[in-house]
Amino acid sequence: MKQIKLKAYGKINLGLDIIGKREDGYHEVRMIMQTVGIYDRLYMERIAEDRVLLETNLPYLPTGEGNLVCRAVELLRQEFGIRQGVFIRLQKFIPVAAGMAGGSADAAAALVGMNVLFRLRLSKEELMKRGLRLGADVPYCIIRGTALSEGIGEKLTPLPAPPDCYVLIVKPKASASTRLVYERYDACTSVCHPDIDTMIRGLQQKDLSQIAGAMGNVLEPVTVAECPVIGEIKQTMLEKGALQAMMTGSGTTVFGLFQKEEEAELAREQLRQDMRIRQIYLTGWFQPPQHLPIRKQTAKGKGE
Ligand code: ATP
Repeated sequence: MKQIKLKAYGKINLGLDIIGKREDGYHEVRMIMQTVGIYDRLYMERIAEDRVLLETNLPYLPTGEGNLVCRAVELLRQEFGIRQGVFIRLQKFIPVAAGMAGGSADAAAALVGMNVLFRLRLSKEELMKRGLRLGADVPYCIIRGTALSEGIGEKLTPLPAPPDCYVLIVKPKASASTRLVYERYDACTSVCHPDIDTMIRGLQQKDLSQIAGAMGNVLEPVTVAECPVIGEIKQTMLEKGALQAMMTGSGTTVFGLFQKEEEAELAREQLRQDMRIRQIYLTGWFQPPQHLPIRKQTAKGKGE
């Protein structure tokens, strides 16, 4: 195959807890990851020149080694001694540096794309192992769906999907540095931990109220202290009828779960007027086709 189109889906955290810090400085997490219906588009094409060329719609994103897509492509090119190059067009829709693992999702899609373009015949597990070298969330972005993520993000246990609902995703203009948020978290003296086990039971029982009730993000108070708009967005969502609203990752994206479409739309309309907000999406869960190994998809020529 000479070219391929892929969708790289973003995630939210339904729950995010930190249970310790390792000696090497990494935080040990317990997170409930959930893929949502917002995606970046990647177009990848084999080229004759021995180089990786990346074009994106966001002028401020790096287009060389600083971009996770280039690093993913180079990783497999070097391992397999591939002399042909790759041209990639990346269209970003997932909010950047916002707690939605956009870079990791793009890297995961690029690994899958390389596997198809160069017929590398790597299994999903083999791709995940290589993904971990690029970032802790990359293996999850290869399996996608609903999962418990532990360790530094590399220990993944698939979970049942939550019941369908409307998911309103709002990215304020203000951003937060992941590194600073974790540093400030480390300096906190009192922390309120979310109940991840109750969340898991809620997912197993397909009980949306229990899931919403157990939502919590240990990093949220830290980021809200820097970006109070997060608290205001949550408040608007709750006033308009959200079952629950929360910040994802280290922020600053906020999401709300709604059972009624009209209520989600009312919240969206009100938040649209707010000049402090950059992006708003009304979407739902994305569940990948299950039990479909990447090798089989490759044979069929599908890239997702
Ligand atoms: P996480 O949820 O894993 O913490 P995030 O959503 O907070 O991730 P990203 O959108 O992945 O953050 O971007 C973090 C940084 O990575 C950005 O500042 C950007 O410069 C860099 N980056 C590298 N490659 C990409 C990419 N393909 N898309 C977005 N950002 C990228």
